[in-house]
Amino acid sequence: MRWDDVAGATRDLAELELSELEGALTPSGIEPYRAKQIYRWIHRRAVLDWAQMTDLAKRHRTALAEAFHLSTPNIAARDRSSDGTEKFLFELADGRRIEAVYIPKSPADTFCVSTQVGCAMQCSFCLTAKMGLERNLTAGEIVGQVRLLRSELGLLEQPINIVLMGMGEPLHNYDATMRALRILTCPDGAAVSPRRVTLSTVGIVPALARLADEPVMPNLAISLHGTTDEQRTSLVPVNRRYPLAELLAACRAFPLKRRNRITFEYVLIRGVNDSVADARRLAGLLTGLRAKVNVIPLNAAPGIPHERPTAAQIDRFGKALADCHVTVSIRKSRGRDIRAACGQLLVETGQQSPGQRLAGMLGATDG
Ligand code: SAH
Repeated sequence: MRWDDVAGATRDLAELELSELEGALTPSGIEPYRAKQIYRWIHRRAVLDWAQMTDLAKRHRTALAEAFHLSTPNIAARDRSSDGTEKFLFELADGRRIEAVYIPKSPADTFCVSTQVGCAMQCSFCLTAKMGLERNLTAGEIVGQVRLLRSELGLLEQPINIVLMGMGEPLHNYDATMRALRILTCPDGAAVSPRRVTLSTVGIVPALARLADEPVMPNLAISLHGTTDEQRTSLVPVNRRYPLAELLAACRAFPLKRRNRITFEYVLIRGVNDSVADARRLAGLLTGLRAKVNVIPLNAAPGIPHERPTAAQIDRFGKALADCHVTVSIRKSRGRDIRAACGQLLVETGQQSPGQRLAGMLGATDG
């Protein structure tokens, strides 16, 4: 059950698409043409409160307040890294917490947002996995992270990139994620170009097939990380259900716009998947695909049973891929000092403290 599915709760305006908002206003006596005006306040100007909708008559604002609520996460903490990356800890209406990251000029300003509280995928190298899945985010909560980051950082006008690479598996919360993407890309709202949105997934094959038919098409990044089924299953357990051959077949069938490519993310882990033989096998798997590989040297953390390769090992792997004519980039880690880098998002406070759970798993006494 969603937190706001309780009797008497009003509808969340933050998760309505423009066409739905038009219909929803009528019972409140607000003319449908005002929907665009209200939608712009919420998604373009990122206001948090009816009172800020200054070109709307007072009676309309009162009617809105009676019929709807506007869910916006609260900022519970904000950490700034020495490299300018900022990590935001958000508290949701039910007290649960999620994280989002602002990565300036990489090369565009990028927001990394969450789609779930925790994650169910259990990837062996990822800290978020330690939380387990607490619940899905609503579309309003996904969009809310972007609204809040934009207003807090004063980035209402400039184009931004959005990567669905925070907590959670976006295709495991399919409907809310797609709804959020439709809202974020709507020209009358936040108007983010779909070309500036990247969805990163472990590769839930049936969901990929659905995604291929969506009207709003984000860029696709696949978390591959392994080059044999045995190796990939040990790192990304969902591979047991959707093995490499099926996943890559779904990627081959995926419609790509001209000049667009699928990004394959590959977390490089010392002694596990970082050999030259792995690089060659990876190149072989991607033959015939319009692909690029993004190598992410592991961000090590306590509780993660893996090590980061040395700089020389990372180089060797990248070069072996390039030698096989694969386009490769090595992801520079940002925000590691505030634990905002890939796979380092873990909320340690709150009622069902994942921190305590993690401490338990690690055998620590004071989590
Ligand atoms: N669930 C989605 C999106 C979230 S993770 C997915 O799996 O794609 C975004 C990227 O960070 C993924 O490629 C993920 O595998 C990677 N990642 C997770 N933990 C990491 C770690 N400890 N070091 C480096 N990258 C990590």
